[in-house]
Amino acid sequence: MGGGTGADGRRIQAGAQSSDEGRALSTLNRDGSRRWLNPRPSSGIFSRYRRAVAWALIAIFTALPHLTIRGRPILLLDLPHRQFTILGVTFLPTDTVLLMLLGLSLLIGIFAVTALFGRIWCGWACPQTVYMELLFRPLERLIAGTPAQQRSQTAAERRLRSLVKYGVYLACCLFLAHTFLAYFVPPAELLQWVTSSPRDHPAGFAVVMITTALMMIDFALFREQMCLVACPYGRFQSVLLDRQSLIVGYDFARGEPRSKPGRRSPGQQEPAGGDCVDCRACVLTCPTGIDIRDGLQMECIHCTQCIDACDAIMLKMGRPRGLIRYSSKAELDGSPRRFVRPRLVAYCVLLLLLSGVFAAALAERGRADVTVLRGIGGPFTATGDGQVANQIRVKITNRTAADRTYRIALPDADGRDTVIIPENPLTIQSFKTREATVFILSPHDAFPGGRREARFRVDDEDGVVAEPAYRLLGPAGAPGQAGRAAP
Ligand code: SF4
Ligand code: SF4
Repeated sequence: MGGGTGADGRRIQAGAQSSDEGRALSTLNRDGSRRWLNPRPSSGIFSRYRRAVAWALIAIFTALPHLTIRGRPILLLDLPHRQFTILGVTFLPTDTVLLMLLGLSLLIGIFAVTALFGRIWCGWACPQTVYMELLFRPLERLIAGTPAQQRSQTAAERRLRSLVKYGVYLACCLFLAHTFLAYFVPPAELLQWVTSSPRDHPAGFAVVMITTALMMIDFALFREQMCLVACPYGRFQSVLLDRQSLIVGYDFARGEPRSKPGRRSPGQQEPAGGDCVDCRACVLTCPTGIDIRDGLQMECIHCTQCIDACDAIMLKMGRPRGLIRYSSKAELDGSPRRFVRPRLVAYCVLLLLLSGVFAAALAERGRADVTVLRGIGGPFTATGDGQVANQIRVKITNRTAADRTYRIALPDADGRDTVIIPENPLTIQSFKTREATVFILSPHDAFPGGRREARFRVDDEDGVVAEPAYRLLGPAGAPGQAGRAAP
């Protein structure tokens, strides 16, 4: 593809008659006012597939938070309780390494999919596109009418239709807000929010209302601008895509120079030119308001609507389909298509490595996390009866999906030690943390050099879960030095 790059990063084809010349953003008029887009729907093979995929995805998005694996949610990012469950595996905020490995694997996965299939996520699966293009825009056309129909409506009829449209939008947004929140709040808790009075859960009620309002703003007002100015993914396109990535592209060599088929006198020849008849059907159907003939642009979400629109025109003109088609920059330039390339191999190797380390770290994870901490205050205390007391806190996190009971022991305690654990065994709810206080009373001379190594053992119903080591402290010299830490 010949051409250069515009001031806003757009690629402009040399010689192309850009319909957007001078426009900074496809949703802004030249005077800076909002340019409202009313993309004309296109029918064709991609439109049919996209509609089927979209409705399947809407069903999946709605059902997913309610599905479980072995009694655990498939996906729940439980923010109130700080638990993240993915495919039935629960992660806690302390799983920093695991979460980091998971995040990195996801990121590399996105890089690999984008390098291979371009912005297939944006055009086919992103909830913003799916709901905007396949639910809200069709509802708008159904209730308010197409722009041509609106022109023939009276002002009162337009107002009434607009009122009905926003009422329906509000109902949809309320439903979507609950669906969205079900990914972050356990469904049982959400059901309680829905079925009880707002006075019983003002915070929950406020969260639902704010989410609904944000969705209304997005789908009724902000619309395609979410993809153009708010979503960071499109902005990374220039680094994530390469010349071999799948894109929706206009065949410049075949289409240019454009020629409008006008009325000709008998015997007059059609002007020699490319296949593009400059009908602008591809522009009128574009949900982001761009002209694909200007080349690959950040605003293009690869939704394929322009492919269907142009194919219909080509069919009418008796010309082959595919003037706009799924292709790659290399292929449009006449070079061969290559799937395997160094960046893709690097992504795959990295992804395999990261997922391997992640799987190994996950398998290593025990049934409980046990941390032994020194008690608050001095390192040890001298008691009135000539003994030394070490106060210790044993923090246990139950990592299983059931409540469990933990017993703390000091198996190699000196025969002269007295171990006091006010609450032992300790019952801990699933994925919760509790702390037990342990007092160890020892004679003064039990600390040669001011210290002594000890080992705790924590068992649950299935056996040993951890055996953490701990250093007991005591007076280094004669009695009377109690209260000072050994060096
Ligand atoms: S240019 Fe085509 S593929 Fe890109 S967003 Fe517009 S209609 Fe969709
Ligand atoms: S729809 Fe096809 S023929 Fe019409 S302007 Fe677009 S590229 Fe040209």
